Amino acid sequence: MTNTMVITLLYGSPLVVFLGLYVLKKKRQHKESEAFLQEAEAARLTEPASLHPVIDPVQCIGCGTCVSACPEHNVLGLVANKAVLVNPTNCIGHGACKTACPQDAIELVFGSATRGVDIPEVSPEFETSVPGIYIAGELGGMGLIKNAIEQGRQAMESISKKLPRKRAGGMLDCIIVGAGPSGLSATLQAISEGLNTITIDQETTGGTVAHFPRGKLVMTAPAQLPLVGAVKFTEISKEELMSFWMKVVRENNVKIQEKEALVDISGDIEKGFTVTSSKKSYQTRRILLTIGRRGTPRKLGVEGEEKSKVAYRMIDPEQYKNDHVLVVGGGDSALEAACSIAELGNSTVTISYRSEAFSRAKPKNRARIERLESEGKMTVLMSSNVTRITDDTVEIKITHGEKEKVIERKNTAIIVCAGGILPTPFLKKIGIEVTTKYGTA
Ligand SMILES: Cc1cc2nc3c(=O)[nH]c(=O)nc-3n(C[C@H](O)[C@H](O)[C@H](O)COP(=O)(O)OP(=O)(O)OC[C@H]3O[C@@H](n4cnc5c(N)ncnc54)[C@H](O)[C@@H]3O)c2cc1C
Ligand code: SF4
Repeated sequence: MTNTMVITLLYGSPLVVFLGLYVLKKKRQHKESEAFLQEAEAARLTEPASLHPVIDPVQCIGCGTCVSACPEHNVLGLVANKAVLVNPTNCIGHGACKTACPQDAIELVFGSATRGVDIPEVSPEFETSVPGIYIAGELGGMGLIKNAIEQGRQAMESISKKLPRKRAGGMLDCIIVGAGPSGLSATLQAISEGLNTITIDQETTGGTVAHFPRGKLVMTAPAQLPLVGAVKFTEISKEELMSFWMKVVRENNVKIQEKEALVDISGDIEKGFTVTSSKKSYQTRRILLTIGRRGTPRKLGVEGEEKSKVAYRMIDPEQYKNDHVLVVGGGDSALEAACSIAELGNSTVTISYRSEAFSRAKPKNRARIERLESEGKMTVLMSSNVTRITDDTVEIKITHGEKEKVIERKNTAIIVCAGGILPTPFLKKIGIEVTTKYGTA
């Protein structure tokens, strides 16, 4: 063997092995992406909720930079050497893909040709088409924690700047509705400006972040929080972020009126607004809506639903240890909640759905349900409706053709996953102009 051959073998072999491994890895990733895409298409989960990327296949060179840049797992993938949104409903509009793309092949848009997304019209000062009513955060179309924080602060600055200094007797300066990142930031800004405001939330402090799954890694960017200063998180667990929020609330004596929902708004900027909540009515000069886009969970409307054992989403399956759990619903969130509790094997789990089949859920989740049912780890009640809830039981009506029977089951926890009532109809009712976007920025 000549010296040249020895050198070629010595240096060439690792290179060939490396290239081989690289090609295998890429093939596996392509296959995974195709599987995700097929699964999403089969379950008809092809419409992203809000802001999302549209990739120009002509410009795309399939380098995969956007796939690596996306902080969420398996949302973007490469299929046939082109970037594709393989899990559209899990896209939360980070926009990191657009920034990363070297070809400028990505545009961020709302809605698609087949599904419009309603975005309220707001001025650069965050005022809606109804003078005196402002919108900030995700409700205005701009998702992400950093944007929500920045907008909440800026909206309250605008409100304060335009508010006549002469106060009307008995009136609040502003009501902030929603205590997510945007509402909290606005509340802190209001305190720093000495405004007379209150903040209400139909659930608890923290907004959507409080409902992230346990242990979720939150990807965010540094932001400026009033009274606190620069918040420099980039990656933080949901629990750490929530305890940070709670510390800010405690240390700044922030008062959030929890479990108080906005029900109606009347009046105008001249004579002041009347805000009716689920608890009382308030007179206020301005209103800031920071209610996000998730809407209000749809209720069952049955006797006993107000009991504390009834929840509208599952956050941590571990909390249902030793419980008799009923999950209501037939979408992916219901199936995933029921399966993850049943798989722990330390509680009894029943799922109740009003239709005959789980046709809206992903095949993967339907298979999980079938397996758990066949293993005796879950009871599945199709064509069934909850009719009454007591402290330790639940009554369920089951329909088989013409026949109906009512059963009573032992029960200590109920999770209702029946979708949400979106905020847009309410915005339109109070006169706020809304534009429906079909795949435009
Ligand atoms: C699964 C998931 C993962 C995400 N991951 C990230 C991430 O890693 N990084 C990131 O930056 N962003 C992430 N986001 C997006 C982020 O959570 C939102 O953009 C952000 O919370 C928006 O803040 P907000 O204050 O505008 O609204 P929200 O956080 O949605 O808060 C709205 C508040 O208004 C209340 N409300 C609603 N209606 C009423 C009413 N009628 N009366 C009274 N109160 C009402 C709600 O109870 C809620 O507390 C994620 C979102 C989801 C769903
Ligand atoms: S970064 Fe741009 S060019 Fe590269 S795969 Fe993604 S869309 Fe295509």
